[in-house]
Amino acid sequence: MTMRRRPVGMKTRLAAIITALSIILLAVGWQDAAAAEAKSQLPDWRRYAALSNESGEAPIIALVIDDLGHSERELKRVMALGEGITLAFLPYPERAPELAGRARENGFEILVHMPMEPTDKSADPGPNALLTGIGDSELMRRLSHNLARLSGYVGINNHMGSKFSQDRYAMALVLNELEARGLLYLDSVTIGSTVGARLAETSRMPYASRDVFLDSLAEQSFVERQLRQVERVARQTGRAVAIGHPYDETLEVLERWLPDARKRGFEFVPISTIAALECAC
Ligand SMILES: [Zn+2]
Repeated sequence: MTMRRRPVGMKTRLAAIITALSIILLAVGWQDAAAAEAKSQLPDWRRYAALSNESGEAPIIALVIDDLGHSERELKRVMALGEGITLAFLPYPERAPELAGRARENGFEILVHMPMEPTDKSADPGPNALLTGIGDSELMRRLSHNLARLSGYVGINNHMGSKFSQDRYAMALVLNELEARGLLYLDSVTIGSTVGARLAETSRMPYASRDVFLDSLAEQSFVERQLRQVERVARQTGRAVAIGHPYDETLEVLERWLPDARKRGFEFVPISTIAALECAC
C-alpha cells in the first residue's frame, strides 16, 4: 500500500504566503526607514542637493540665477530653462518662501541669496542685510532671521557684499555658523578681494566661487560674450560657475544658448556638485 502524501491545505498555503509577504514588506520598510534615517543625518548641503546627472566625462557648468523671490512669472521662466540650474532667493520678499518652495518641489536646488553690505553706500542691499560694524549679536540675529525665512536650501551666496565679504572677522563669523548648520557658501565674488572662498577653503567647509558674471551689463551681446567665457573656463578647468539675473536680456540669451550648449556636450550641474569637488570635506 502506498502512502499518499497529504495535500497541503489551502489555508496552510495561504498562511505561508502571507508570512513570506510580511517578512518582505518588513524588510523593505526597514530599508526605507534606514535610508531616510541616513539621509536625515546628512548635512543640509547634501541632504537638499538636487540630483546631478554628471557623467564625469564632460565639462560641467553650474548656472546660478540670483535675486529671485519677487515674481512668479520670473520664476516660471527661469525654471523653464531646465534641470541643473540653481536658484538663489532673496530672503525678504513677501512671496520668497512660497516661490522657493515651488522651485524645490520642481526639483531645483536652491540657495538663500544673503544680502550683504556693498562698498557703494548709495546701493541698498535690503532689510536685515549683513553689515560690518553692527556688533556680533545683531549680525548673527540677522543671519538667523534670513536663514529662517526659507527652507530646504543647500547654502547661501552673497547679494552685493563687496564691503562685507572683505571683512575677515565678520565673514569668519558667518562661515562658522554656516558650517555648524551644514550649509555651503557660494562666493559671488562681487569684489576681487573677497575673503569668503579662501576662509571657507581653510576651514574645509563646502564652498564654490563664481567664475563669470553673465550680465553686469544687461545687453544680449554682453551676455553672449560672457557665455563664451563660461565655456572657455569649463573646457580649460573642467568646471565653471556662472551667475546671472532674471533680466529679459539674460533669459532670452540663455533660452537660445542652453539647448545648444547641452548638445555640444556641456553638462549642467547644481552648485552642490561643484562644492563637492572643491572641498576636502
Ligand atoms: Zn543679488
